Formats: sequence, structure tokens, C-alpha cells
Amino acid sequence: MTTSAPPALPVPPPAVNPETKPFWEATAQGRLLLKRCLDCGAVIWYPRVICPDCASLRTEWFEATGRGRIYSYTVNHRGEGAYTGLPPFVLAYVELDEGPRLMTNIVGADNAELAVGLPVEVVFHDTGDGAALPRFQPMRD
Ligand SMILES: [Zn+2]
Repeated sequence: MTTSAPPALPVPPPAVNPETKPFWEATAQGRLLLKRCLDCGAVIWYPRVICPDCASLRTEWFEATGRGRIYSYTVNHRGEGAYTGLPPFVLAYVELDEGPRLMTNIVGADNAELAVGLPVEVVFHDTGDGAALPRFQPMRD
């Protein structure tokens, strides 16, 4: 995992709550955390206290590899909010190696190289507010 050059996309600070605070604190350190259920083994996304599969409260944080593949994507030409007026940018679902699918942006890529199944890795864009947004770029060997 790496920290990228200054992003072309805005980096609005996330809404942090007690359930997601460890996740966002880790992003500021360049680490992608997930939760795992200690009773049924499910990998939980988004971060929360209760396992969505079995309702167990016994969950633990672990560090993800930060690697995955594009599950689906679109090139958005009409952003809203902080994204208004931007050049076209890529919204995607990335399926992590651990299973969960995150809605995110693909950065550092030529749109022509994007494809479902393309291997990607996380990069963190600092919000300047004690958190960083996990975005993904194509894997470069
Ligand atoms: Zn469970």
C-alpha cells in the first residue's frame, strides 16, 4: 500500500462515528481495516458492531491486503456536491481479496485500460482531517 501524489479528486472528510472511528484512524496511517465475525467468520463491510450475517457482537478488526479487482465501474460525467464541475471520474465497486465490495473511485488510470476483473490496489487520499479516503489504482508490478 502506498500514499499517492496529490489527487485530482476532492477529498471530503468522512462522517466518523464510534463504530467507524478505528477504520478512519487506520486510513490516516495508510492501513485498510476490515472486521471479521468471530462466530461465523463473515468479513463485514461496512464497519459496524453487529455481524450482518449472524447478529453476533463478537467481531474483531484486521488489516486487509488492500488488493482486489474491479467488480463494476462507470465513468461519471456529472458530479454532485464537491464533485461538481470535475472532469469525468471513475466510480467503481472494488471486490477486495477478502470478499467485501467497496464503492470507491479508480484513480491513476487511463479509462481505456479499465475492465471488470482488473487487479487494483488501495491508495489513500488524505482529507487533512485525521482520515484518508481509500481509493484504488491498477496494480503495477
Ligand atoms: Zn457472524
